[in-house]
Amino acid sequence: MDIIRELGSSRKYTLHSHTQFCDGHAPMEDFVTAAIRDGFTHYGFSPHSPIPIESPCNMSLEAVPLYLAEVERLRRLYGDHIRLYAAMEIDWLGPEWGPANDYFQSLPLDYRIGSVHFIPDKSGRYIDVDGSAERFARNMVESFDDDIDYVVTTFYEHSIDMLRAGGFDIIGHFDKIGQNASAYCPGIEDSAMYRSLVNRLLDEIILRKPIVEINTKAKTLHGRIFPSERYIPALIDAGVPLIVNSDAHWPDLINASRDYAFSLIESYKKVND
Ligand SMILES: [Zn+2]
Ligand SMILES: [Zn+2]
Repeated sequence: MDIIRELGSSRKYTLHSHTQFCDGHAPMEDFVTAAIRDGFTHYGFSPHSPIPIESPCNMSLEAVPLYLAEVERLRRLYGDHIRLYAAMEIDWLGPEWGPANDYFQSLPLDYRIGSVHFIPDKSGRYIDVDGSAERFARNMVESFDDDIDYVVTTFYEHSIDMLRAGGFDIIGHFDKIGQNASAYCPGIEDSAMYRSLVNRLLDEIILRKPIVEINTKAKTLHGRIFPSERYIPALIDAGVPLIVNSDAHWPDLINASRDYAFSLIESYKKVND
């Protein structure tokens, strides 16, 4: 599916959202009615994929057919008003478990988002690095020997591995670790070590040109978008396709801060035309 072509010139969409099937806070239908009310033209569901480790945020394998059936039901009900997509935000847990795997490729999804939320500790056990700053700080002590360099390096190396393995259309919030890493170690994003890691990932993105989302979920609460404003010019200059996703977990937030991201893209393009 050519997502960019499907969206056309519409700005009323999100292709990244969560519902009762994972850690979202409302049933799928509530998001659809909110989207129609808000004049959305396209809406994509992207539950956190099943994973082979314990996680309260990810959907179970058994729930996948129910999820797909619910998208079908909603399409029948609302398909005249909005284009609905069945997608998934698929976790990369190393070469054994990621978007490219046969299971995820065999699912009848309209598109796939690839994201890194978990990285292995030094014994290979996968630990969530995407949760709250408090939990991250706890995990730093309990699982990562206080080694923030290890954590950010592993996050970006896994992101590069995921890109190389492919099997997805959109790379999710590609510098998300910056939020928790900065809370834990202020200024780390300005360090040469951190910047060279992001630059390595950027090189890989520019080479492969997946769709990059600008994820606005944390803008209101934490004042951040993913990727950070500082990386967006390089993506635009390289012709990487960009979309703006709200990553909504609540129906009221489906359009939150998306206008900010669009105006950022536009003002850069205007100056550099
Ligand atoms: Zn995510
Ligand atoms: Zn998400």
